[in-house]
Amino acid sequence: MSPAPVLLQFAAAQVVAAVVAAACAAAVVALLARGVRRQRRSEAAVVAALRETEEKFRQAFEHAPIGMALVGIDGRWLRVNRALCDIVGYQAQELLERDFQSITHPDDLEPDLAYARRLLSGELTTYQLDKRYLHKDGHVVWVQLNGSLVRGPAGEPQLFIAQIQDISEPRRASEELSRSRALLAQVLEALPVGVWIMDEKGKITYGNRAGHEVWGGSRYVGPEQFGVYKGWWSESGEPIKPEEWAAARAVAKGETSINEVIDIECFDGTRKTIHNSAVPLRNGDGATLLGAIIVNEDITARRQLEAQLRQAQKMEAVGRLAGGVAHDFNNLLTVIRQSAELLLGAAGSGGRREVQEIVGAAERAARLTAQLLAFSRRQPMAARRLDLNPIVEGLVRLLDRLMPESVRLHLELAAEPVLVYADPVQLEQVLLNLAVNARDAMPQGGTLELGVGTVNVERTLLHRHGTVPPGDYATVRVRDTGLGMEPGTLERIFEPFFTTKGVGGTGLGLATVYGIVHQSGGHVTVESVPRVATTFVVYLPLLQDEDRHPIDPVRPAGNIAGTDTILLVDDDEAVRRITRRSLERQGYTVLEAASGAEALDLHRQHSEAIGILVTDMVMPGMSGRELVERLSLVRPHLQVLFISGHTDDELIRQGLLGPNQQFLRKPFSGAELAGTIRQLLDRH
Ligand code: ADP
Ligand code: MG
Repeated sequence: MSPAPVLLQFAAAQVVAAVVAAACAAAVVALLARGVRRQRRSEAAVVAALRETEEKFRQAFEHAPIGMALVGIDGRWLRVNRALCDIVGYQAQELLERDFQSITHPDDLEPDLAYARRLLSGELTTYQLDKRYLHKDGHVVWVQLNGSLVRGPAGEPQLFIAQIQDISEPRRASEELSRSRALLAQVLEALPVGVWIMDEKGKITYGNRAGHEVWGGSRYVGPEQFGVYKGWWSESGEPIKPEEWAAARAVAKGETSINEVIDIECFDGTRKTIHNSAVPLRNGDGATLLGAIIVNEDITARRQLEAQLRQAQKMEAVGRLAGGVAHDFNNLLTVIRQSAELLLGAAGSGGRREVQEIVGAAERAARLTAQLLAFSRRQPMAARRLDLNPIVEGLVRLLDRLMPESVRLHLELAAEPVLVYADPVQLEQVLLNLAVNARDAMPQGGTLELGVGTVNVERTLLHRHGTVPPGDYATVRVRDTGLGMEPGTLERIFEPFFTTKGVGGTGLGLATVYGIVHQSGGHVTVESVPRVATTFVVYLPLLQDEDRHPIDPVRPAGNIAGTDTILLVDDDEAVRRITRRSLERQGYTVLEAASGAEALDLHRQHSEAIGILVTDMVMPGMSGRELVERLSLVRPHLQVLFISGHTDDELIRQGLLGPNQQFLRKPFSGAELAGTIRQLLDRH
């Protein structure tokens, strides 16, 4: 090959090379330039993206609905968001000038710091704490704080991140809730009625104190499912089926306002009468049945009191009736007795026996009316201060004759005199009735105990037939080991004419006891165990008032005749007529008046002559007492004899009369009347 072409080739090659090189360089430069541009462009993108992300984080941080903060290791706020500012009431700038310690409630600082220390030591990576901040305006804000720690590349602590949520509202709500729960619990515990809450399956979930008391236990000890209680009965005594119990009806059938009176057997075995009501328990919207609320009220004592009251009213009504009948009856008996006596005096031997029969029958009839009056508490009393010991002792002597051999008598007297204010005759009547009943109850023999004592009743004593109010009492106990009584009998024993003795009994014994004891301001209780024993206790007020001056009982005078003038006042004509005749037979002069007004008239005309006034107590218009008051204005020292078959006059009942006054119970015999008059006149 020639050198020229080679050179040329070389040169050409050089050129080509140069050109190529140049071209290459240009290309490289271009390439490079493109690369740099591209790189510049992506760097900007990265920065922009970072900025965007950071902005997003910033926005998220700033606008987060909960408080957020970055806190330095020393506690200074480094960054805070708006929600946090809102919670604590500071501007962001104000916060950044403070540390978290300065706005933390002093009591919550130490727990918070302790958590922070545990984060720093690596023991914890996060913590949660309910704490209080002090709002800028001073009030306390409850927050829930979530804290964590950010560490640098070498693990060195850099800052804390805190999330802070305002929990004041839920906390207030829950405090409010627990306050009202506590209030409700206190109210329920203080209620005097039992309250039970039952769930929809019939399980008891709550019972208050009174509820436990109603059912006989300090603690709810019974089975919790209904269907297994001991027993419930309706008022009429029918057993109630478990599915018919109020609670069951409220729970199972959603029945509202169930109210009933039922008898229950409690867990301690006692029977009680309760008022029972139940209402369904629903949730707030009223749609779902949650169970039932049951309210129990123990009305056993109230029922007993009501029964006692009914009993007392019945006795009172019968008493009134008996008293009314006895009053009229006594007037008739007065006439019969005195007429028979006059006949006896006048009659020859023929008919004497028959007239004596009449006198005897009239006396027995008088005793019967006396018993009726005793029951009706209208029997006049000749009360006086007396010691129970000798009364009971005297009675025992009488009883010795009355009791069969098989009855052992046991007497327990009090060491000291036991003073009461009572009518000794009536008191003997009371004790005799009790003793005779005891004898009747011991046909096979036994022991009769009589005891005298005193007792201080501190709290009102509730018993089957009434109450004994607090006070000091004298007591007489009469106990026998006889047949005893079933509750049904016990209930009725004080009723007049109630007897279990068939024709042998009058049913008036205990009615008399009841009347006399109550009239004397006392009480009588009875306890009995069938086939074991019966104990009656008579309570009489222990005498304390020593100022009373009861009158002396009149003893029949030997001489009963006289010539004095008597003003006789009675609205019953027959009584007047016969009384006048018996008095005239004894030599007296009798002026008769049918009313108080007539008596005042007669007295005006014959005042000088009249030595004594004999007057009935209960008369239409002016009563005997009023008449005496009117007359005492002109004749203050006039002798007065009241005669009555019954009296509503409180003073006479208590036996409190003036010094020149006396009382004579109808029906009286002519001799009794004349004797009493004689004594009054002689006293003068
Ligand atoms: P009577 O004795 O005439 O029956 P009471 O009024 O004295 O009337 O008594 C009424 C009833 O009370 C008696 O029939 C009897 O059933 C009962 N009773 C009274 N005392 C006793 C007693 N100590 N033990 C058992 N039962 C008694
Ligand atoms: Mg009797």
